[in-house]
Amino acid sequence: MTAASRAAAVPGFDPEGVATVLRALLPAGDRHALHEPCFAGREWDYVKDCLDTGWVSSVGAYVDRFEHMLAERCGVARAIAVVNGTAGLHIALRLAGVRAGDEVLVPTLTFVATANAVSYCGAVPHLVDSCPTTLGLDPRRLDRHLATIAATVDGQTVNRDTGRPLRAVVPMHVFGHPVDMDGLAEVAARWRLVIVEDAAEALGSLCHGRPIGSFGEVGVISFNGNKVVTTGGGGAILTNRGDLADAARHLTTTAKLPHPWAFDHDQLGYNYRLPNLNAALGCAQVEQLDGFIAAKRRLARLYQERLGALPGIEVVAEPAGCRSIYWLNAVLTPDAASRDALLRACHERGLMVRPAWSLMHRLPMYRECPRADLSVAEALEARMVCLPSGVALARAVFAETTG
Ligand SMILES: *Cc1c(COP(=O)(O)O)cnc(C)c1O
Repeated sequence: MTAASRAAAVPGFDPEGVATVLRALLPAGDRHALHEPCFAGREWDYVKDCLDTGWVSSVGAYVDRFEHMLAERCGVARAIAVVNGTAGLHIALRLAGVRAGDEVLVPTLTFVATANAVSYCGAVPHLVDSCPTTLGLDPRRLDRHLATIAATVDGQTVNRDTGRPLRAVVPMHVFGHPVDMDGLAEVAARWRLVIVEDAAEALGSLCHGRPIGSFGEVGVISFNGNKVVTTGGGGAILTNRGDLADAARHLTTTAKLPHPWAFDHDQLGYNYRLPNLNAALGCAQVEQLDGFIAAKRRLARLYQERLGALPGIEVVAEPAGCRSIYWLNAVLTPDAASRDALLRACHERGLMVRPAWSLMHRLPMYRECPRADLSVAEALEARMVCLPSGVALARAVFAETTG
């Protein structure tokens, strides 16, 4: 039996019908990827300036300017630009005090970089469940899980089953939708966990008016080619703590001691600094962020109006009290067979829709990790389809409908 014929068993849900409506909403003729970059501002000018002046590498005015723009935008004291979001998470976890042999609480529903960064520290991801409305880490479920497996020994929370310290928790704001950060702050304080925000997908999102990325001790953004703002590849570490910002700068520049000519390094550092060339692109992109977000939110509303009305389709919406950038729009179908049928029907029409990431506890390197009950994440993953959500696409949709 094919997935499509099994899906027909779910009353009302019609994958061909949903794909047809989606196809008709989007500009005709093209194949549509999930999130393509949009270069509509001063990108060429700034990149050309780097080439004209020779400042293309790890030092230059655009890196400083990019960092200041990000800090201001995200409401933090300092931003440190790095080569990618994964490298940023690696350093952020180090700054949070994560050491070899620790455990770090990570949602199983995330991109693999979140868990990998924990492993780079020699620590072990401890996988936790999702909230059905935010799609992100669920503070109440986390609290209940910790109550069953954790103990406090000399002021440090440890996993009673493994004996390892539970050092930090990494909320990831799925598709830009904010995690319940107030709830998490309470749980993290009770269990003495440091919060490191994986805000890779959420540049510009707000939770009760406050920028995502500014809630944790440290936060991280990504500027990969498919994110709302891209530098080709890139990322940033955000923090309000001057000492952590200085340490981040030091660790990401090979721990080199400042000196006019000598190469001296006082610890094991990393070559994680973002090149000026990439930062130039980033400056031009951040200048356009408000317009990007407006276009994406308008597309999200359109998806909600047109797809939300179809039987068996639930369109994921921003949590109450939050303003999401809708990095990716997502719908929930009735079950896994329906999801597969919708994926197939869309691909047949040139729509490059995608399922959610494979859950971390199903990947070979994380199968044996300690974990909570993960039933909400499993149900979400089984039902989820991500829709084309890029800025240029959103603009094209409304250029067509408004003539
Ligand atoms: C994009 C992303 C990252 C970082 O990705 P890079 O490609 O290394 O910049 C980390 N976590 C999540 C959830 C992401 O979506």
